[in-house]
Formats: sequence, C-alpha cells, structure tokens
Amino acid sequence: MSSLLTGRPVETWLTDMDGVLVHEEVPIPGATDFIQALKSSGRRFLVLTNNSIFTPRDLRARLLGSGIDVPEDAIWTSALATAQFLVDQRPQGTAYVVGEAGLTTALHDVGYVLTDRDPDYVVLGETRTYSFEAITRAIRLVAAGARFIATNPDPSGPSQQGLLPATGSVAALISTATGRTPYFIGKPNPLMMRSALNRIDGHSESTVMVGDRMDTDIISGLEAGLRTVLVTTGSTRPEQIETFPYRPTEVVDSIADLVALVSGTDAGAGS
Ligand SMILES: [Mg+2]
Repeated sequence: MSSLLTGRPVETWLTDMDGVLVHEEVPIPGATDFIQALKSSGRRFLVLTNNSIFTPRDLRARLLGSGIDVPEDAIWTSALATAQFLVDQRPQGTAYVVGEAGLTTALHDVGYVLTDRDPDYVVLGETRTYSFEAITRAIRLVAAGARFIATNPDPSGPSQQGLLPATGSVAALISTATGRTPYFIGKPNPLMMRSALNRIDGHSESTVMVGDRMDTDIISGLEAGLRTVLVTTGSTRPEQIETFPYRPTEVVDSIADLVALVSGTDAGAGS
C-alpha cells in the first residue's frame, strides 16, 4: 500500500457503493468492517452512487438490510450533486423532472419548484417506469429552450434478470429528438467528486476515492486530484486495468484490504 501512503496523510475517504460495498443487495466481504473502521477513526467519509432513484434515507435502509450501517448524511448521490449544482447555478429555479423520489426530494430540498410550465431546466434521472408521455413532455420543453441536465450518463444498469436501460440511454433518446445534449452531473464528471469533497469539507490532496470502474470512479477521482484505489470485486477484471491510458494509485482485491489502513493498524498509515 506504499503509493497510497505517499504524500499528505489521508484524512477523508470517498467510496463507490455498487461493486465496492455491495453487489445489488448482497454485501461484499469487508464492507461492514470498512465502514465501521471509518466511523471509529472519526474520519469524514461519503458513500457515492450515480443512482438517482433513491433518497439517502432509502439507501441507508437498503445498506442496513445488507448489514452495512452507513449514516444517512454519509451518502452522496448524483441526485444530490445535481440539486447542489442547480442551486449554485440558479437559486430558486424551476425544473421539469423525469425521475424518482431521490431526485425530486433533492430538488425540493434546495428550494426548487417542480413544474411542467416553462421550467428553467429539464432534469432527467433514473426511473424504472419511463413514460412516453413524460419523455415527450421533456422533449418539447428542451426544444422550447429549457436547459437539459441529466443526473448520470450510465447507458445501462444491472439487475437480477439482465441489463436495464439507464439514464444515459433515455438522455440519448431526448438528444436525438431535440439535437440538444445534456450536461451530465454524475461520474465520470469530476464535479461529483468536488461536490462530495465540499460536502465533507475535504481536501483533494488528503482524500482517497475507492471504486470498481476505471472509466467512472478512477478517472473522476484522478481528475479531481484525489488518490484512487481500484477494487477488483466489481466490473473491472485485473487484466483490463493496464489497457487504460491512466492508472489508479493502488489496486486491491477488495475493500477488506483497506480496513487496516483506515483503522491505522497498517504500518505507516495516516497520522
Ligand atoms: Mg461501482
């Protein structure tokens, strides 16, 4: 773990959720200990997800069901990052939302009004019930000049039965119809990392990002100036890592390999 320990002591941690802590609902060995070690260490941390369906409260309950006890305020979703971005850009704005409670709640919480009449933005998030009517409305509003935002660019997501179309695919549909492309807020946009750092008052030089995907977690961590750790419990096979034009700071088999480092029992760890 030598390269991870080079430079400033690690004060704050960001970690991806799916493929790092859980597979769908199934906990990955070491995840419970990792989160417990973070809480015991008193270090600030956030669990990140591009999924904009759920509120942090929903996600906390789902993780708890898998035996992983993450405080609600330690969860950072692309929906929260989107709401933060919009309120920074245009306070007290209006939006037409195609999405679920994770997104609508986040926008309400920053003081946005949700409307289908001449909104400042069309905001697209993940849903499991995309309606032709809602997409048609979004297309007409974007064509009429509403600014187009999407929570995340993921083209598809996993499910027990196989691939599911995700936000990126529906965004492509709206883009094809209107000739307008959205601004995507979630990973790999480093904005997702920077907004997370701001949330916990972290500094890029003393923060580590843990993830399972090179083209989202690692690239956005890298571009935000963080040290990065790739775990191979998710979607990246070890032999694929060297095919990318960039590398993580460290590669480990699983989150279990980081527990000693967080709890300070690894030689040379932190302060
Ligand atoms: Mg992942």
